[in-house]
Amino acid sequence: MAAPTEKKEIDISLQAYDPEYCPVATGLRNIGNTCFMNAIVQAMLGITSIFKTAYLQRESDSVANNPILQLFVKMFTDKSRINEYTQTLYREMIGKSLKRIDLTRMDIWSQEDSYEMFVFILEELCKCPDIEILFNHRTTTTRKCLKKGCGHTSTTRDTNQMFIVQPDIKVDQLPETKSDETSQDLNDFLKKYVSCVPDFTCKVCKDKGTKLTFTKVTMIPEVICVVFRKYFQKRATPFPMKLKFADVKEKKNYIYDLIAQVEHSGSQGGGHYYAICRRKDGWKRLDDESVSDGIPGPTENTYLVFYHYVGDEYV
Ligand SMILES: [Zn+2]
Repeated sequence: MAAPTEKKEIDISLQAYDPEYCPVATGLRNIGNTCFMNAIVQAMLGITSIFKTAYLQRESDSVANNPILQLFVKMFTDKSRINEYTQTLYREMIGKSLKRIDLTRMDIWSQEDSYEMFVFILEELCKCPDIEILFNHRTTTTRKCLKKGCGHTSTTRDTNQMFIVQPDIKVDQLPETKSDETSQDLNDFLKKYVSCVPDFTCKVCKDKGTKLTFTKVTMIPEVICVVFRKYFQKRATPFPMKLKFADVKEKKNYIYDLIAQVEHSGSQGGGHYYAICRRKDGWKRLDDESVSDGIPGPTENTYLVFYHYVGDEYV
């Protein structure tokens, strides 16, 4: 049986994907190594709940006083100036990074990375609480000491905004797993996963070593973002077009559709980013200024994938 997943506790219902708030495909100019920025902006433009929330609450202080959120709303409402707004966003984000004391200049300029940029942008958008709840999911993690005769377990609860996944979901996540074992299905992984913490000291027996952790998702958001870590090898990690999370009590499944994927071709040091996104006019490959028909699905270049809640299925 699937692990039970609770719906949001504060808002009774999840906000479904709304095609009315999905833009028509438009290319973005590359103004010098900005493909990483263009790709993530294109992926985020497909997250309809950002625009719907911001548009419906445009009078509220948390939306009106958030300049980055305002830029996204302008990109959506004033398509003819989308390039101008994206460039402003880029400059704003670089400016904000330079002011951060937890980053060195090297970090800012050497990592022209779509994921890093997404984290930065999301941090700004999430200053608006109604945007933040679109991304937050909650997990419960149980850690178990494997020392013979101990078996101490401890539990922690966390709130996260992204799922970070090794390219080969099961094998890399858990080194003890036999190499001939097949990869875990991504949807199952997102509900419940096993990982290990190296060099962890057990509170009870003081044994230091690798400990297993079991993480279960207990609350789901509107938007599910999965990051595939690709530092060691490039290979296609299977991901489905739809995700399902079971609500056992209500006898239903929460259904999510794939809405965007960010692709990174080439090596870690260099390379090129583009996005494959669902748009009002169909699935498109958005590669800087070039717009063509796109086919969603796993490739060895897939770096980030985005799913949006679409509705419930009663079982
Ligand atoms: Zn122990």
